[in-house]
Amino acid sequence: MNRMSRRGLCLVLSAPSGAGKSSVSRALLEREPELRLSVSATTRAPRPGEQEGVHYFFRSVAEFEAMEASGGMLESAHVFGRRYGTPRAPVDEALAAGRDVLFDIDWQGHRLLRQALPGDVVGVFLLPPSLEELERRLHGRGQDPAEEIARRMRAARDEISHWADFDHVLVNSDFHETVAEVRAIIHAARSARARQPWLPGFIDGLLRP
Ligand code: GDP
Ligand code: ADP
Ligand code: 5GP
Repeated sequence: MNRMSRRGLCLVLSAPSGAGKSSVSRALLEREPELRLSVSATTRAPRPGEQEGVHYFFRSVAEFEAMEASGGMLESAHVFGRRYGTPRAPVDEALAAGRDVLFDIDWQGHRLLRQALPGDVVGVFLLPPSLEELERRLHGRGQDPAEEIARRMRAARDEISHWADFDHVLVNSDFHETVAEVRAIIHAARSARARQPWLPGFIDGLLRP
């Protein structure tokens, strides 16, 4: 084990839809060169503009289930009648190489990931400043029709009720401040004792007479 080498960490960013998860993720990936996004596998069809291996790995139900049966998924879920899951190999490789992995998944995925990778997960939950502001952001994004926004607003209450599962909870009022706070969380977590297995040897050397 080299001095200074460390095991990577899993940063899970969760939030009710519209609270700013995607915007914050994008800003983190631009600013943290050691951070990679985990690309999920899904059985849903690609939306216009979505690319294989960038937004998702698009798989048939049979392919997805084969991957799951062989232990190739760290966690998986049924969402809106489709399958979603986190492929295991890229995460294992990144953590062993000391790189950090960002997960844009919901509270259920967070819970399962914590079970699959005990000690490796840092969970951050983003809250909107108010439900009125959440609705304004969903309208402002201009992506969803009114009934979809109403559905997301109803789902927001349920999502928010899981806030206490997370290590860190931030109110995303000022965007730049939120990004700075998440970066501070990443930087602090990197120096956790348990993530630096080289330390005991180093300490022995330090204290050797
Ligand atoms: P720079 O990249 O360092 O020049 O900083 P910017 O101020 O341009 O912002 C960086 C990123 O944050 C860009 O991807 C912007 O689109 C995004 N961004 C900046 N302000 C906001 C904001 O208020 N809301 C959201 N959602 N994104 C923002
Ligand atoms: P999510 O991925 O959680 O659904 P988005 O990142 O798409 O949310 O953000 C929803 C909308 O709110 C976007 O239009 C985004 O630009 C805006 N937004 C995000 N964070 C802030 C913030 N702190 N202040 C104002 N608007 C924000
Ligand atoms: P969408 O189809 O809109 O991209 O995503 C739908 C839902 O699936 C979102 O709530 C998203 O958080 C969830 N999701 C995406 N990838 C994964 C994953 O790998 N695991 C789990 N558990 N949920 C996921």
